[in-house]
Amino acid sequence: MQLVHTIADLRAALQGRGRPSLVPTMGNLHEGHLALVRQAKPLGDVLVTSIFVNRLQFLPHEDFDSYPRTLQADCSHLQAHGCDIVFAPSERDLYPEPQTFTVTPDPQLANMLEGHFRPGFFTGVCTVVMKLFWSVFAGSSGTAVFGRKDYQQQMVIRQMVRQFALPIDIVAADIHRAPDGLALSSRNSYLSASERAQATQLHDALQRLSQAALEPGVDLTRLEAEAMQALRAKGWHPDYLTVRQRSDLQPPAGTARANQSVALGAARLGKTRLIDNLEF
Ligand code: AMP
Repeated sequence: MQLVHTIADLRAALQGRGRPSLVPTMGNLHEGHLALVRQAKPLGDVLVTSIFVNRLQFLPHEDFDSYPRTLQADCSHLQAHGCDIVFAPSERDLYPEPQTFTVTPDPQLANMLEGHFRPGFFTGVCTVVMKLFWSVFAGSSGTAVFGRKDYQQQMVIRQMVRQFALPIDIVAADIHRAPDGLALSSRNSYLSASERAQATQLHDALQRLSQAALEPGVDLTRLEAEAMQALRAKGWHPDYLTVRQRSDLQPPAGTARANQSVALGAARLGKTRLIDNLEF
């Protein structure tokens, strides 16, 4: 396995290696990331995992500085999973000059939910992903794997790829959960022991919301408000808990449709903001 830091070294390492598959990450890898790596391995001739904590997708008050950076441990995991190239650029490598040219996603899809509570987040994501795509694929074809954990993100990326006609297949991997249901996340490491025990309540709330949303004649707006209130009563600060149609993340007209819906939630427990979702 090769560890490279610059786009030039990455391109040199990829020379003559065939069709790449890519797993973009911010590092501090856990089983959820490694499941993506396992899924990506057979999808190309050479597997690249990128590790880059992208300042552009953090708001000034968010956890950019404290985000866990564990490159050495990440590399051992990746080596054990058959990764061929780790691309771990520094900020200066990826953004040698201020990145004033950015990729702004469709506001219809990107300005709600995560984009509403984290303005500019998806512009930061699309800009870095476009740059990673050009660094890895250099205009040739390939595959990139994203997690359904960041449900809206993989939809935004899919739309970007489609609208810019990028020759890249986007594969969405299932959410990897701890045995108690908590979706794995690098940010789970911020939780205290008691918060960690409580953290499954977000997943539980989404399960209850998705079941209730299928009852005939139900008022979805009221259900969502009640679900948020129930989480607040347990000490959470929810940004949203909502039922959307999978096709465009808009609220369904009337009641939710089975197998076409997704319940999405984001909520803060103490200092930690967690997101999760459940397709149903
Ligand atoms: P991150 O390092 O948090 O930016 O995540 C990198 C990629 O891993 C994204 O495509 C995430 O959606 C995906 N990912 C993170 N956690 C999980 C999880 N628990 N299950 C599945 N995919 C995940």
